[in-house]
Order: sequence, then C-alpha cells, then structure tokens
Amino acid sequence: MPIESVKMEGVAKKYIVMSGKGGVGKSTVAVNLAASLALSGKKVGLLDVDIHGPSVPTMLDLAGAQLETDGEKMLPVEVPGIEGLKVMSIGFMLKAEDSPVVWRGPMKNGVIRQFLEEVDWGELDCLVVDCPPGTGDEPLSVIQLIGDADGAVLVTTPQNVAAVDVSKSVNFCRQLNLPIVGIVENMAGFACPRCGEVTHVFDRDGGKKLSERYEVPFLGSIPLDPAMAESGDSGKPYVARFADSTAAGVYQEITRRL
Ligand code: ADP
Repeated sequence: MPIESVKMEGVAKKYIVMSGKGGVGKSTVAVNLAASLALSGKKVGLLDVDIHGPSVPTMLDLAGAQLETDGEKMLPVEVPGIEGLKVMSIGFMLKAEDSPVVWRGPMKNGVIRQFLEEVDWGELDCLVVDCPPGTGDEPLSVIQLIGDADGAVLVTTPQNVAAVDVSKSVNFCRQLNLPIVGIVENMAGFACPRCGEVTHVFDRDGGKKLSERYEVPFLGSIPLDPAMAESGDSGKPYVARFADSTAAGVYQEITRRL
C-alpha cells in the first residue's frame, strides 16, 4: 500500500544521512554536516529520527531541552552558539535518556509519522535527517514519509563488513528512487593527537573502492580522531571547534556539493 508522505512546506532541501549499521558515526556525520551548513550561512534543521539511539541531543548539549509549541505544532530547539541551526530529536520526547524503546514495528511507524508531521520548521534552506541505521522498516518509513528527499549521504567505516552493509544501503536507495549524494568514510585511520599522522588501522580506501564499484560519488574520509569523540560528548560539534582541520574540510566539501 503506498504511504502518504508528510508535507514540509518551507523546507527547500532535504537530505537523509544513512548507514548500513549502527556505530559507524552516522549521527556524528549528521550533526557536523548540519553544523557545517549553518556555519556557511544557511538556515538548517537537524531532525533526529533514530528511535533506538537518539544521540543528537547529547552531541549538541541539548539533553534537558524543554519543547515548546506554537499552539499546534512542536517548535524545534535552537542550538546556542551556532546561528541558523535548529534541532528536533525523538530523544526530546522519550522519558529518560537511559530508558529503552520497546515499541513494536507498526507503533514505531506511527510514532515516526506523528513526529514528522508535528514539527513546525518555519523556512529552512536545508533539513538534515539522522535516519535509523540499516535497511529495515524504520529507515523505509522515514524515506517514504519524507517522500521527496533530495538525496542520501551514506556513512561507512573502512572495514569490509561495514562496506558490505553500505552496499545494501546503496541498493535500498536505488529501489526507493532516492538519489545518492555520496559515501562518507568515517573512522578511516587513526589521527595521532600528538603529531597528526594518520595510521590506517583497518583496510584502506574501503569507501572509495565501494564508491567506484557502485558508481556513486566519494565524499571524503574522516579519520578516527579522539577529538571527534570528545566533541560528541562535550556538546560542541567538531566542525565548530576545529574549523581548519582536514575533517572539517571534508564537511565543507560535502556542504558545497549539497
Ligand atoms: P551511529 O550514529 O552510526 O550509531 P555515532 O555517530 O553515535 O554512530 O558514533 C558512535 C561513537 O563513535 C560516538 O561516541 C562518536 O563520538 C564516535 N565517533 C564517531 N566518529 C568518530 C571519529 N571519526 N573519530 C572518533 N570517534 C568517532
């Protein structure tokens, strides 16, 4: 049965950040991409629909944020220190950070729909969506409910297993007619905090090989960098703290392509 998509008037472009599996840095990429776009002067919304692991509030230090409404719809939360960036996370609606979500499939889809319908974004240049991982029911609902997304950014790590998973995401997007902006390879080599040299812990160039094999653009490699994890925990995005770094350059490159 075709799913009726949710109208998001006033939102010019919508991009979905996806990954074949959890833990590859999808939310980190979504947060830094949204922040990078906002720092370049755009009006940006970041929508975290990762029901089981909504980490965006922690990554932007918004965990205790109070949701407000305009009488009808929920208003996204503005990110202090990054002008033009607003956030809505399914995490704001869950009771406690450490309570697991135990909804069954159809309930999850209902929650995702309600969540997408009931946010008033106002005028946005760009909406970045942090999608649940994998190629199951939840990402399927997100893509179908958004309906007219402009593209998907696929996040992978260099190990072969994650690369195989992302190849499923490539096929998933193609089946759903969702254009692929490209592949970001995260945790590609370890950036030494002392000298900056990058050591390749895993297979080299997994994301690049994959992009050639599937004929999708390669957007760049982001090293495994302790400062990236620390930024995620501290609530200030890496791209705002280290604007001149190589990783921030990768985000700026993706921003240009969008
Ligand atoms: P996902 O959304 O795919 O589950 P997250 O973005 O939550 O993954 O990242 C998982 C963990 O890895 C987080 O603690 C995050 O800070 C960390 N992380 C992500 N990318 C990097 C990186 N390039 N270097 C170091 N740590 C990273």
